[in-house]
Amino acid sequence: MPSVIVVGGGLAGLSATAALAEAGFAVDLYEARGFLGGRATSYPLSPADENSEVIDNCQHVLLRCCVNLLDFYGRLGVRDRVRFSGDFYFVEPGGRVSTLRRGRLPAPLHFSGSFLGLRFLNAADKLAIARGLLAIRREHSRRRDLDRISMLEWLREKRQTPGAIDRFWRQVLVSAVNEELDRMAAAHGFQVFWVGFLARSDSYEMGVPAVPLADLYSAEVWRPFPRVSIHLRCPVESVDGSGGVKLMDGAARRADFYIVCVPPERLAAVAPGLEIDTSWVEHSPITGIHLWLDRPITALPHATLLDRTVQWMFNKSGGRYVQLVISASRALNSMPKGDVIAMALRELAEFFPTAREARLERSHVVKELRATFSALPGLEPLRPGPVTKAGNVFLAGDWTRSGWPATMEGAVRSGYIAAEAVSRAAGKPEKLLIK
Ligand SMILES: Cc1cc2nc3c(=O)[nH]c(=O)nc-3n(C[C@H](O)[C@H](O)[C@H](O)COP(=O)(O)OP(=O)(O)OC[C@H]3O[C@@H](n4cnc5c(N)ncnc54)[C@H](O)[C@@H]3O)c2cc1C
Repeated sequence: MPSVIVVGGGLAGLSATAALAEAGFAVDLYEARGFLGGRATSYPLSPADENSEVIDNCQHVLLRCCVNLLDFYGRLGVRDRVRFSGDFYFVEPGGRVSTLRRGRLPAPLHFSGSFLGLRFLNAADKLAIARGLLAIRREHSRRRDLDRISMLEWLREKRQTPGAIDRFWRQVLVSAVNEELDRMAAAHGFQVFWVGFLARSDSYEMGVPAVPLADLYSAEVWRPFPRVSIHLRCPVESVDGSGGVKLMDGAARRADFYIVCVPPERLAAVAPGLEIDTSWVEHSPITGIHLWLDRPITALPHATLLDRTVQWMFNKSGGRYVQLVISASRALNSMPKGDVIAMALRELAEFFPTAREARLERSHVVKELRATFSALPGLEPLRPGPVTKAGNVFLAGDWTRSGWPATMEGAVRSGYIAAEAVSRAAGKPEKLLIK
C-alpha cells in the first residue's frame, strides 16, 4: 500500500487525505495546531472552561455550486449537517427587506420574478444588471482578458449604473471573493455569477453549517478511515522529497509521497527546497464580529446589509446571537476592537429597529488579517500547480492553481488535484476532481 504524508490539516490537506485513503493509500496527516480545519474552524471561546461555548472563527458559507466541497463532506458523512437556503435577503438602512429567490422559469431566467421585485434597485439599475448578466453569459467562455482586467473595469465597460455597482455587484462579489471590485480579476467575478447564479437554477443556494465548523472534521468522522492517522499538535519543521519529513521535536518520518498544504507564508520555511515563488501573494483580511444580545433583534436567518461597513448578518440563535462578517476589511485592521463593536451596534440599529433597545451581553471580534490571498488581476499564471521539482512532493492549498479564488471549494479542489497527481505518480490514477 503506497504511503503519503500530508502536512497541514486545513481543507486542502483534509480533502486530499480522505480521497487518497478511499483510493487505498495509507495517509499520515500532520497538523501544527490542536484541531483540524485551518482557517475554516471553530474553537472554545474560553479555552480554560471545559463548558465554554464553541464558536467558528468566522461564519463560513458555501453555495450549492461548491460541488467538490460537498463531495468531500459526503466522504466524511457530514453533508447533511449543512443547511441550504434559497432565499437571499437584502436589507436597507431603515429596515426594508427585499428577497431574491428562484421562481419557476429555468436557468438563466430563474430569478426574473423576484429580481424585478427588488426594492433597493431602481429600473435603470435593473436594466443595467440584466445587460451585465447577459454579457457574462456571452463572454464567460470567449473573452481572453478577464484575468488581466479588474471586475470594476469590466462593469464600467458595460456601463453599469452606480446603484447597480454598489448595491448589487459589489454586495455579492466582495463577500464571495474577499476583495474590492477594483482589485479583483474580472475572471473571479465572472465565475461567481456564471457558476453560482446563471448556469443552474439551484447553484446559488447558500449553505450554512448547522454545527461548529470543527465538528465537520472531528475524530468521530474519521473513524471509518482505518488507513488515516491524524497527528495533532505536530508541526512539521521541514519536508524534503529524499529526506522525508522532520518534525519540530526532531523526529523523522518517511513516506512514498508528500503533500504540503500549508499557507503560502509558511511554505518557504517548511519546504525551502521546492523553491516555489510566493512573492506575488498579498493578503486580504476578513473581520468576524460575534454579538450576544439580551433580546432577539431579527427573525431573518441571514441577510446581506446594504450601504454600510457590515456586509452580512447570520442569526445563530433565535436572533440573540448574531455573527457579522466584513470581507476585504482593510479599513478595520487598525481599528480598536471596542470601536469595531460600537460601529457594528450602530449599524445594526439602522437595519433592525429592535437592536436600538437591545443590551449587549457579550462580544468577540476576530480579525483574520491573512484570511485569503488577494484575487488581483494577473495572478492566475503565477499560482503554482500540484507538481514540484521534487518528484514525490506535491502542493495544495487555496492559493495554488485550483481554478477558484481562495475559498473552501478552492481549497478542496486543490486537495483533490494534488491527490490525483499523487495517484498518477503511484501508477494508479484516480479521477477525483468534479469539474
Ligand atoms: C475569516 C474567514 C472567513 C472565511 N469565509 C469563507 C466563506 O464564507 N466561504 C469560503 O468558501 N471560504 C471562506 N474563507 C476561506 C477559507 O477558509 C479558506 O480558503 C480555506 O479554509 C483554506 O484552506 P487551506 O487548507 O488551503 O489552508 P488553511 O486552512 O490555512 O490550512 C493550512 C493548515 O496548515 C497548518 N500548518 C501550517 N504550518 C504547518 C506546519 N509547519 N506543520 C503542520 N501544519 C502546518 C495550519 O495550522 C493549517 O491548519 C474564509 C477565511 C477566513 C479566514
